[in-house]
Amino acid sequence: MTVSIIIPCHNEAGNLATLYARVRAVMDPSGEPWEMICVNDGSSDDTLLQLIALHRQDPRIRVIDLSRNFGKEAALTAGLDAARGEAAIPLDADLQDPPELIPDLLAHWREGFDVVNAVRLSRDGESWIKRASAHLFYRIINRLSDVEIPPDTGDFRLLSRPVLDTLRTLPERRRFMKGLFAWVGFRSTNIYYHRAPRHTGKTTWNYWRLWNFAVEGITSFSQVPLQLAAYLGVLVSLLAFLYAIWLVARTLVYGNPVKGYPSIMVTLLFLGGVQLMALGVIGEYLGRIYEESKQRPVYLIRQVWESGQTPEGDDS
Ligand code: UDP
Ligand code: MG
Repeated sequence: MTVSIIIPCHNEAGNLATLYARVRAVMDPSGEPWEMICVNDGSSDDTLLQLIALHRQDPRIRVIDLSRNFGKEAALTAGLDAARGEAAIPLDADLQDPPELIPDLLAHWREGFDVVNAVRLSRDGESWIKRASAHLFYRIINRLSDVEIPPDTGDFRLLSRPVLDTLRTLPERRRFMKGLFAWVGFRSTNIYYHRAPRHTGKTTWNYWRLWNFAVEGITSFSQVPLQLAAYLGVLVSLLAFLYAIWLVARTLVYGNPVKGYPSIMVTLLFLGGVQLMALGVIGEYLGRIYEESKQRPVYLIRQVWESGQTPEGDDS
């Protein structure tokens, strides 16, 4: 097996037929043995039925049905764990990542690269707010974290077998895949493309979800916010201390006018705010430690449809 194409699917019924046709049109002429691993991430439409139908029609399609919606990162992890190929390529089911780029990715892999990133030159069909916030996110995370996370690179990239095997040994439960891909290192290179709008359906990533994704990324790959809270605390305490000295001095010189209400309120509210913020940052990390300490699996598989090799397979 040369290539495993990994597709997390959450309510993608309208895209699967086109996706399969386009992947086939690219992969069959290449002459490489390939498989397509479709991970059904708790879809509520008939994504699973369509996937099973595709599997019956073409056994190179393997279907992994997760027990519920675990989120894209977990679905991707499930697919990567199941990959049998010498290289794996995660692909979005909504055809935003063109399968036509796969031969290009493979060519660079043959040249000896372990990771080939597909970098987006443009993002059609996405609002400027989304593009601007994505840009800001990459700048912030690369400032704060030690590993360089390539900007404007989604999960669409090629990962070679050594990288896949390494990824599997990473124990963390909260998986920020872009960060993990970058963290493992290996020889990597880029190719560039223009990102198409979604084929059909709607993105499930609203701004709240994207915000959480950003917090996940930053707290998984940087401890700066944690230190920031401490520095801010020191700074505020210092200012408060200076202010206190000044107050005492003023009282000694001018006596005690009973006019302190505004300054007391300001100090009180400001310190309260800073404390809450610091607590929030600590809570964010504490939550992650809690999550990791439970040692729950990243995903649960309900059933697998595939031919040969594994006993779980249902080829009826
Ligand atoms: N996806 C998933 N689980 C989820 C949400 C999304 O497996 O909970 C899949 C989805 O089917 C698609 C990919 O992740 O193949 C990217 O999702 P989407 O297109 O909604 O994200 P966007 O392109 O807007 O970032
Ligand atoms: Mg998409």
